[in-house]
Amino acid sequence: MESTSRKIFIGGNWKCNGDLKLAQTHCEFLNGIEFDGNKCEVAVCPTSLHLASVKTVLNSRYIVSAQNLSMFDNGAYTGEISAKMLKDSNIHWTLLGHSERRQFFHDDEAVLAKKLAQALQNGVNVIYCIGERLNEREANQTMDVVRAQLGTLVKSVGDWSKIVIAYEPVWAIGTGKTASPQQAQEVHAEIRAFLSTAVNSEISNSVRIIYGGSVTDSNANELILEKDIDGFLVGGASLKPAFEIIIKSYVNKFK
Ligand code: PGA
Repeated sequence: MESTSRKIFIGGNWKCNGDLKLAQTHCEFLNGIEFDGNKCEVAVCPTSLHLASVKTVLNSRYIVSAQNLSMFDNGAYTGEISAKMLKDSNIHWTLLGHSERRQFFHDDEAVLAKKLAQALQNGVNVIYCIGERLNEREANQTMDVVRAQLGTLVKSVGDWSKIVIAYEPVWAIGTGKTASPQQAQEVHAEIRAFLSTAVNSEISNSVRIIYGGSVTDSNANELILEKDIDGFLVGGASLKPAFEIIIKSYVNKFK
């Protein structure tokens, strides 16, 4: 009962892929997918450049989300896109903390705290990505890493209805190595236990925790059955026809 009381959330992270033509044709494909919006929310995260065209083509059942935003307000920050600008363009969601941002663009905890503040002050909801690297898992540090990353969130967030947590073990991203349903469930349950202590049990029970890392049409139906997995953040497969099957995996949760 507890797990089905949370609406499933499925995000497609296009990363730095696609062009205007693909944005058009893939969005037309997405528009034809049937799903129950009362049970499942679906977010599409194209590059900033493609946000406007995706927003125009996709029907309103979909959330259109940015992949990143500036840690600063509007001002002399060449190359940046502020939370205020996203909001002004009717984009009410962003990813933050993705491991590729952490690894290649120095999005550390201090930067992420500033980005979270910008997002939340401007009413932009956040899909907040956390997860351990392979060497950290092998050294049994998974939960230490995840707790430290969650600490930034706990310090920054007042309204938890604006947050979806994406647990994405770095070793599973783009590698074809998915965490097993048990491995993912174990960490998701630990995240809830941490939030129950660090925030409260109501938030711990209501916040959506989605899994990411090599999710495909062949593992989504199994992963979604885990009690504390409330959906997925999908990279590679989100630009393929497989995304339809991944979206439709939500029905398994309500059988
Ligand atoms: P992947 O990426 O599905 O290609 O592993 C997931 C992500 O980076 O969010």
